[in-house]
Amino acid sequence: MKQMMENCEKHGFNNYTRYPVVFESAKNGYMIDVEGTKYLDFMAGIAVNSMGYDDEDFKNILKDQIGKIIHCSNIYYNAPMIRATELLSKATGFDKVFFCNSGAEANEGALKLARIFGKKSKNGATKIIAFANSFHGRTLGALSVTGQPKYREDFTPLIPDVFFAEYNNFDSVQKLIDDKVCALIMEPIQGEGGVIPADVEFMKQIRELCTKENIMLIFDEVQTGIARSGKMFAFEHLGMRPDVLTLAKGLGGGVPIGAICADEKFARYFTPATHGTTFGGNPLATRAVEYVLSRISQKEFLENVKNSGEYFIEKFEILKQKHPMIKQIRGKGLLIGLVIDEKFSVADIVKKSFENHLLILSAGNNTLRFAPSLTITRDTIDKGLEILEKVLNSIEKA
Ligand SMILES: *Cc1c(COP(=O)(O)O)cnc(C)c1O
Repeated sequence: MKQMMENCEKHGFNNYTRYPVVFESAKNGYMIDVEGTKYLDFMAGIAVNSMGYDDEDFKNILKDQIGKIIHCSNIYYNAPMIRATELLSKATGFDKVFFCNSGAEANEGALKLARIFGKKSKNGATKIIAFANSFHGRTLGALSVTGQPKYREDFTPLIPDVFFAEYNNFDSVQKLIDDKVCALIMEPIQGEGGVIPADVEFMKQIRELCTKENIMLIFDEVQTGIARSGKMFAFEHLGMRPDVLTLAKGLGGGVPIGAICADEKFARYFTPATHGTTFGGNPLATRAVEYVLSRISQKEFLENVKNSGEYFIEKFEILKQKHPMIKQIRGKGLLIGLVIDEKFSVADIVKKSFENHLLILSAGNNTLRFAPSLTITRDTIDKGLEILEKVLNSIEKA
């Protein structure tokens, strides 16, 4: 395994700090490395492997699609893309759907939609409002609206006319509003930023403001969408709807795909030749979407995500009683954050968990992040939490 990792370091770009393991397969909630060692998975490829690793119907459907055709250009129609488009439109309630390949690319498209809307219908308005502590992806446009200096500072100048407000602080948003603002982009739960949910009242004010000022409200649900929050989309918790929705991560159950959803009012600005992408709507990827959507739209599936999330929270409450280093539990469904006392290092906890064969994530503000597959079983949750407790004990003692 050591030789394999060295080869990767030698020939691959060195832009990731990786844990020392080479994974080869996954089964029954565990990732398995090339030497056969099993790691219990509480992170699902960063909220991607929504169907888990053991869904044989999913695998067979993908195999069937590979037997038919893997890729087809967007200068033609293809059957899975048509079906997935209709299903996603129905699932989100938005008139129109555009498929691309990643979260960053979905946000890039949404930002272009905002700019073309501003140009054609709002006297050339170009300003975009985003939030401190947000994360929208690594491409230049997505970085431009990502409110975390550490990701941005080496790549300036980024796209102009982006202004940052404070999350859950309506005054800070209102101060930035004038008739040059074309869009506002935000996550309904800040994921990378530390699993921070938006307040219902704040969102109500944002929705009213955007409607009144004719500002395109973009929700980045790349992490929170596709049943992650215990509802199909996190906006359903907030009693409001955005104008534009971006999706990726869990959408393809592990097959790379992203999407932009919007009502005709905004979608209509993307006329032929304004936007496109070679792989978007690829039949293999959209066949995966078709399957994922058919699963998560089942009532029992969503019910199960909700129950698993509540089970996690129950267990975390008990853990919090025993371990004062856990300051706060937050999140929804199967996107959960544990805020850890600043005296302890979250990176240490993640590393020690890894050494004990439990895969978890960190997020901003000294937070542990849990985003397991949506089909995780109670047995797996129990086993993982046993490891976590052992790790917390050892860290407290040190
Ligand atoms: C992961 C993430 C992205 C970026 O998605 P990629 O597929 O890595 O480009 C964008 N927004 C949010 C909220 C994310 O969690």
